[in-house]
Amino acid sequence: MFLTDKFGRSIHDLRISITDRCNYRCVYCRTGTNGAAYAELPFEDYLRMARILVGLGITKIRLTGGEPLLRKGIVEFVRDLAKLRTLQGQKPEIALTTNGHLLAEIAQPLKDAGLDRVTVSMDAVDPERFARITRVPNGYESVLAGVRASRQAGLDPVKINCVLLRGFNEDQIIPFGMFAREERVVVRFIEFMPLEEDRVWTPEIVVRLDEIVRRMAEYLPLEEMAHERSETARRYRFHDGVGEIGIIAPVSHPFCGHCSRIRITSDGKLRTCLFSAWDHDLHELMRRGATDEKLTEFIVEVVEKKEERHHIGEPGFVPASRTMVHIGG
Ligand code: SAM
Repeated sequence: MFLTDKFGRSIHDLRISITDRCNYRCVYCRTGTNGAAYAELPFEDYLRMARILVGLGITKIRLTGGEPLLRKGIVEFVRDLAKLRTLQGQKPEIALTTNGHLLAEIAQPLKDAGLDRVTVSMDAVDPERFARITRVPNGYESVLAGVRASRQAGLDPVKINCVLLRGFNEDQIIPFGMFAREERVVVRFIEFMPLEEDRVWTPEIVVRLDEIVRRMAEYLPLEEMAHERSETARRYRFHDGVGEIGIIAPVSHPFCGHCSRIRITSDGKLRTCLFSAWDHDLHELMRRGATDEKLTEFIVEVVEKKEERHHIGEPGFVPASRTMVHIGG
C-alpha cells in the first residue's frame, strides 16, 4: 500500500524532528527565551514510526529539530534507520538538517552510519552578522568547519539553507553566491514564512525569488536548471558551470500541488502540512498499545486528509498550531 492523499499526491518524504531544543536563537525563529518545549521520545519510538511509514512507501527520511545534533545517540539512530528497506527493497535516503554548530566532529560517524546528505542552515557568511542572527558568539567558524567536514566525509552535495529577511541580510545574496563557488556547496535561499515565535512576518519582509535571481545576476549570470516535480527548490547554475544556487519560494511560487511530505514532531504527532492547524497524536496511540496494523490505519486516514495548500498572505490566514522550531523545519 502506498500513501496518497485525497488530491492524488503520493507521499514519500518523511521529516522527523527528534528534539525541539536548539542551541541557536535565530532572531526570525525564536523569541530569545527557550520557548515552550515539547517532549522528546526515545529513538526506538521514532524508529517504529519510521519502519511503519517506510512500509507505506516513504523513501526519504530527513532528521531535523530544533537542533537534531543536540540528541545523544543520533549516530546509532541513523544506523538503525539505514537498516530499513523501502517497498523497492532499498535503503531509505537519509538526510539531516542542522545548524552545523556541532557537525564537524560527527559528520564522518554519521556518514559511516548511513547518512546520505546534510543541509546546513546559515543566514550570513560574515561572522559578525552570523552572531547577531543566531544570538550565539563565535558560531560561524564552527559551522564552516562542519560544512567542510561534511564535504570531506562525502556527504555530497552539501546544501546550505539561507532565510533572507528584508533590511536584515539581503545584502548577503552575492556573498552567498561567492561562498557556493568557493566552498563547492549548493546554497538555497528560502522565502521567509509566517512560522516564527514572534509573529513579525509581513509580506514586505519576504525577499522573493525574482529579486534574488535579479540580484545574483548582478554578480554573475545564472541559468535555470531542470528540477524534479516534487523538488521544492528552483535550481540555477552560474553560466561558467561553477556553483549552484537554489531558491525555495513557498510564498511567491507555492509548490503545495507537488508536496510529497509528512512530518513527525519530537513528541510524536503526525503533521500533514507545515501550516496545519492541528496535528495527530500517533505516539498516544502507540503508548496505549496499538498494533502496527492499527497505527497503519491511523496514518492512512490522516494522510488522506492532508491540506490542499497553505494560505500565506491571504485574508483570514490562520497561523499554524506550532512555530517552525517546534514542528521541525
Ligand atoms: N536547527 C536546524 C537548522 O538550523 O537547520 C533544524 C531546524 S530549523 C527550524 C530548519 C530550517 O528552518 C532552518 O534553515 C531555518 O532557517 C528555517 N526556518 C526557520 N524559521 C523559518 C521561517 N519562518 N521561514 C522559513 N524558514 C524558516
